[in-house]
Amino acid sequence: MADLKLPQRINRLEELAYNLWWSWHEPARDVFRALDYRQWRLSGHNPVRQLRKLTPEILAAAATDAEFLALYDGVMAEFDTSMSTPDTWFKRTHPDWLHGPIGYFSMEFAIHNSLPIYAGGLGILAGDVCKEASDLGIPMVAVGFMYPQGYFHQHLCVERNICQEEIYRQLNFDESPIRRVLSPNGDTVLASVRLNDFSVAIGVWLVRAGRTSVYLLDTNLEQNPPEHRDLSARLYTAEREQRIQQEVVLGIGGVRVLRALNINPSIWHVNEGHTAFMILERIREEIARGASFDEAVKRVRATTVFTTHTPVMAGHDIFPIDLVEKYLTNYWKAVGIDRDTFFRLAQEDGARAQALNMTALALEMSSQRWAVSQLHGKVTRRMWHGLWPKVPEEQVPITTVTNGVHVPTWVAPELSRLFEKYLGEGWIERHDDPALWEKVMDIPDDELWAVHQTLKRKLVSAMRERGRDRWVEDNVPPKQLLVLCSLFDPDALTIAFARRFTEYKRPALVFRDMERLKRIIGNQWHPVQIVFAGKSHPADFPSKYLLTQVYNQASERDFQGRLAFVEDYDMHMARYLVQGADLWLNTPRRLQEACGTSGMKASLNGSLHLSVRDGWWYEGYNGANGWAIGPDLVNPRPEEEDEADAEAFYRLLEEKIVPLYYNRDRKGVPHGWMRMVKEAMRSIVPVFCARRMLKEYTERTYQAAARPSLSD
Ligand SMILES: *Cc1c(COP(=O)(O)O)cnc(C)c1O
Repeated sequence: MADLKLPQRINRLEELAYNLWWSWHEPARDVFRALDYRQWRLSGHNPVRQLRKLTPEILAAAATDAEFLALYDGVMAEFDTSMSTPDTWFKRTHPDWLHGPIGYFSMEFAIHNSLPIYAGGLGILAGDVCKEASDLGIPMVAVGFMYPQGYFHQHLCVERNICQEEIYRQLNFDESPIRRVLSPNGDTVLASVRLNDFSVAIGVWLVRAGRTSVYLLDTNLEQNPPEHRDLSARLYTAEREQRIQQEVVLGIGGVRVLRALNINPSIWHVNEGHTAFMILERIREEIARGASFDEAVKRVRATTVFTTHTPVMAGHDIFPIDLVEKYLTNYWKAVGIDRDTFFRLAQEDGARAQALNMTALALEMSSQRWAVSQLHGKVTRRMWHGLWPKVPEEQVPITTVTNGVHVPTWVAPELSRLFEKYLGEGWIERHDDPALWEKVMDIPDDELWAVHQTLKRKLVSAMRERGRDRWVEDNVPPKQLLVLCSLFDPDALTIAFARRFTEYKRPALVFRDMERLKRIIGNQWHPVQIVFAGKSHPADFPSKYLLTQVYNQASERDFQGRLAFVEDYDMHMARYLVQGADLWLNTPRRLQEACGTSGMKASLNGSLHLSVRDGWWYEGYNGANGWAIGPDLVNPRPEEEDEADAEAFYRLLEEKIVPLYYNRDRKGVPHGWMRMVKEAMRSIVPVFCARRMLKEYTERTYQAAARPSLSD
């Protein structure tokens, strides 16, 4: 990797570019913006790429520009303080009990868009956890995969039967905010694991998210045969065999990599079942150190924390016996146990095992087990009651820490400045304090409305810019441009439906009564528009069909260009959408949304939540901070549930939402709407933020796992 040649006076730009800390500190973003705005934009807000593209003249000019240097010096000082101050929340409140860091394992991480190694909510959560741990000073190292092709990019095509095209692009590692990690003796191979008859060598990349180091595993090394080099190429391959290979590499290899780096976590956090094989490696280590199998199991369990993230069965990895035998026979022989004992790690009666369920393995082998919302906790206890048949369902030992979002990442800078003015300077340091948010009521409606209008215009511009790129670069048909953006109106009430396309989220629910929807949308004086965004998993054909359906509707003339579909939903577009939409729509089938976090981001930014009361909205809705679609009861017949929810959706729009939105004063400000926006911020932000979530994890979970004697 060619190192950057920067003028001495500003040579720490390199350090700043390689630590994604810059991505959630606005002044640091300003440094790169001010350095060269054009390259900042062209690089896709990726300063590593930007710095590689800048000419020596531009760099030299910056190095002597007093104004730039003042900005740069200020940011570097703040960066140094953030990175090394001993005065953190964690140190102040919990000075004594944690010896090693928390090892946080996840299949995906969404830290910044320049590193497209995430698919959706699970990755977003993992990224937000890493950042918030850094902000609070919680010692954490994270382990995941560096997928050179990541998740696919989505193009849509009106003229196809199935309109989603999946495009995989090779990431340029030299232009990514990652660094190769070498072993203490300079080797690129840090560890290896056995896959059947082969030994797979593992290399590692480091991403820094503030104080949190994220180690990303990579098997694309010349030591490996082609089939193993490709193992880490893509996220969520549908192919079972490749999947178990990946998970063996991540779980077992991940532990070995940390050991090779002499990093020894005190607590091991399994984020979703995909990473549960890390438990096996730690059992092997304990036995190698002389423990009996039972004792090894006990010790590993005591220091393992597990979070489960989905009530949808297809979201749980279940490997058939033949694959488990193929890839793990070596393992149970090496630790000196038989097959049945091995399977007993994941279920009571190992001899009768038909498959290996990764969630069951993680549940059985952790001492702290967490669901991600109150309602999901209930559903999860019911779902896994079979593992604890002797206790009543309410006592199944799985409890809840509700997810939250990393506020500095998701808040719009324009809004942050307004909060600065009315909540007080340094509001961001105290954003989980409910008392602080009482002051949101003091923000004058017209100021808040003006900021919201700006953000909405930015959303429409961003949509048009993406459309323009496709028109210019790919020569897409004009009809497609209409769907991508071109008739969108920055003054109409704008609803966003942006999330993974899967059946349970019911993206086509709003089309149940086409005529009624057309009437709502086409109201001449009170128009409504809907923007859709989201990817279907490449192997999920029913959901691709739904996507095609929605997309085709958007191109119908009857909808007057008031429906749009933005391609390639990602973190970048998500920021525009949650910050710029008026209304954030979520229509999951009940009990299937574990938590959902996009509505929290929307509420933070003044986009009101309109959702079925599932996931976090079950506890977040208070009657005045958004709207609930339909009743809370679970209807056993999906058809009836769809009917009732569609009816509730139309009725809310017709009777409540549209009138409230268009009820303006003489200057055009909707005071009733603004009252609701403020109520949403007040009641939601301090509770549904990653700061509250990580404090809770620390106090309820990590602390107990670090002192096993207290939790037994
Ligand atoms: C926040 C976010 C998600 C998760 O939100 P849901 O409410 O679960 O859909 C998924 N994808 C992106 C890009 C996000 O920013």
